[in-house]
Amino acid sequence: MRGAILYAPGDVRFEERDDPRIIKPTDAIIRMSATCVCGSDLWPYRGFNPTAEPSPMGHEYCGIVEEVGREVTSVKPGQFVIGSFFASDNTCPICRAGYQSSCQHAEFVGGAQAPVLRVPLADGTLVATPGVPSKDMIPSLLSTSDVFGTGWFAAEAANVKPGMTVAVVGDGAVGLLGVLSAKQMGAERIIAMSRHEARQKLAREFGATDIVTERGDEGVARIKDLTNGIGADAVLECVGTQESMKQAIGSTRKGGYVSYVGVPHGVQLEGQELFFAHVHLHGGPAPVRRFLPKLIDLVLNGKVSPGKVFDLTLPLEQVAEGYRAMDERRAIKTLLCP
Ligand SMILES: [Zn+2]
Ligand SMILES: [Zn+2]
Repeated sequence: MRGAILYAPGDVRFEERDDPRIIKPTDAIIRMSATCVCGSDLWPYRGFNPTAEPSPMGHEYCGIVEEVGREVTSVKPGQFVIGSFFASDNTCPICRAGYQSSCQHAEFVGGAQAPVLRVPLADGTLVATPGVPSKDMIPSLLSTSDVFGTGWFAAEAANVKPGMTVAVVGDGAVGLLGVLSAKQMGAERIIAMSRHEARQKLAREFGATDIVTERGDEGVARIKDLTNGIGADAVLECVGTQESMKQAIGSTRKGGYVSYVGVPHGVQLEGQELFFAHVHLHGGPAPVRRFLPKLIDLVLNGKVSPGKVFDLTLPLEQVAEGYRAMDERRAIKTLLCP
């Protein structure tokens, strides 16, 4: 088969790779219905993470089970399944506490920008839908595999509750779905920080009540203006830079909550500043597996359309253009069809 391989910054190729096969008896092989490019794929694409050797790319997936190992009991060939970017056993103490992305046996699921994928720990990782969904449901279902699950975790980790004022730092697909998630959790006021018109529009569609275009200290001042000088009850940091993290902490009221789900690059927190910020911090790789059943249900019942973050759809072989469009911010998120 052919799949996406990153050779060096800016150099993604669609090339011949080995066909995935069952390696362990707990594996499953799935044929991809759709996959996509993640904001986090842009870190190595932009050269912020070194690429030591050609790396198969992609970690967001949904599709039809083709084959399962002899110990797999919860999914079977022919079923439509979705899983998280971290495979998990879903039985260890960490999984039972709801942090499947840090499972004691966690394994990263890489190489998903391809027509076929091997998923380890299939019983713990994959969730099957009641039937094979219609084609128009695929983008929203695919989003539960990472970007919607991560946006949901951002809202949950920031303790969003009915009636709260929420601010979202970052207008990428995760930030936008953080807005949607906060809305689902009953936030009364949702302030989206964005200076990009198309993204502002989608943020409003997902439930944002205010837009702040300023960044850094000016952005913080603007949030304070909008909240009687107090700050937001919950702030979702969905970028992962020093500036965005500072902005998030600065925008939070005393005793409020900051979640951080953007993979940090060069973020350093100063002890005294943190001490006097007086906020709760909670973040990390989203335990998407915990949320999958609920999010799949919300999608299948037509309650939400998170698939709207895909504003570019390309055949899988044009994956390189998918990266370019996101890198140049011409696209929010690229859907790839095998
Ligand atoms: Zn991702
Ligand atoms: Zn586990």
